[in-house]
Amino acid sequence: MREQLVTIRFDEIGLKGKNRPLFEKRLADNIARALHIDASRVKRERGRIYVYPEREDERLLRRLEQVFGVKTFSPGVRVPVAVEAMEAEAIELARKEVDGGAKTFKVDARRALKSFPLDSMDINAHLGRRVLEAFPELSVDVHQPDFKLQVEVRPSGIFLSTRTYQGPGGVPVGMSGRALLLLSGGIDSPVAGWMLMKRGLAIDAVYFHSPPYTGERAKEKVLELARVLARWKGDQVKVYVPYFTEIQVQTAQHVPSPLWTIIHRRFMHRIAERIAEADGFNALATGESIGQVASQTVQNLQCIDRAVRILVLRPLTGFDKVEIVNLAKRIGTYEISIQPYEDCCTLFAPKNPKTKARLDHVESAESQLPADRLIAEAFERMEVITVNAEDG
Ligand code: ATP
Ligand code: MG
Repeated sequence: MREQLVTIRFDEIGLKGKNRPLFEKRLADNIARALHIDASRVKRERGRIYVYPEREDERLLRRLEQVFGVKTFSPGVRVPVAVEAMEAEAIELARKEVDGGAKTFKVDARRALKSFPLDSMDINAHLGRRVLEAFPELSVDVHQPDFKLQVEVRPSGIFLSTRTYQGPGGVPVGMSGRALLLLSGGIDSPVAGWMLMKRGLAIDAVYFHSPPYTGERAKEKVLELARVLARWKGDQVKVYVPYFTEIQVQTAQHVPSPLWTIIHRRFMHRIAERIAEADGFNALATGESIGQVASQTVQNLQCIDRAVRILVLRPLTGFDKVEIVNLAKRIGTYEISIQPYEDCCTLFAPKNPKTKARLDHVESAESQLPADRLIAEAFERMEVITVNAEDG
């Protein structure tokens, strides 16, 4: 029997012991979910995952490019373990490539089934010859072929394909726990979320909204960013939107302006920590990096950290802006992030933010504020919105 399928390869380095089956199972589940297909169409076999789609679908390949844990993948065909079936299929696949304009090729065979009569060198030579006989206009180029006929002989069948695409690599989302991302409308925080999803964390988001100082459009922009992240997650992203206005207004009234930003951040982290505790997140995450803006110094980050007990992940600390922008372009958030709707109103951004805040100063300034009431109000007026990868 001849079957259409997609072969998925993943990185096996570092996958030892109990981790391997967990990784494979999670990856298979995530693939089924991201592709909207039944789990029974995703089969695991030592070192490989095979997807048997209902029909050929270009969209399916685009979605696989966004599933973390996938290293490469090849749409192709499986035939029974027999030399004739393999030959026939090789010629069939070569015909498609020739019709598409290919002039050169090479065969790249692998034999995982040692009882098969031809070893990998034999298969390369044999199929090379058969394809050349069928298409005299083709020639072999081992360095830069127009297509590479990949052949894998395994106990469950012979797998053939001529195209290989890159996945994003990394660890399947959900393998490493859950993080709550402080998501603003800027360039950095969506990239931070993406970095952590790549390491297997499932991300949801919190966006601090200050109406009427920040408008509906600013919120829409954040939801749009969350939708892009949802595509990479292969699932929905929940966005918590606490009411932040009163915290900003009170801070502006009672605290010297150099400390505003740091106190805002401390409130954001406290509120996020409470959400994390209530809804089972293992960590918070932010897009902060060191030295990017005057307010992002190690001293300031430490002052922020002292407001909470929970682990705060800052995956961009070692990145410079150019690297972050390049990543943002690649993952599809850049064009959204540069839309001109402010996240937190410039009204509440001090002209001279403190660059090396001292915790005792920050704490004494903060003690002027009715923290408990402000936080309670942030929750009372909080909205929770779920965005789907497919919306919009
Ligand atoms: P970004 O591009 O992510 O906005 P940034 O370099 O502009 O980052 P800041 O605006 O100083 O940095 O914010 C630092 C981090 O604090 C952000 O990366 C984000 O994680 C968090 N943050 C800032 N504002 C908000 C907000 N309104 N809602 C949620 N998180 C926020
Ligand atoms: Mg910002």
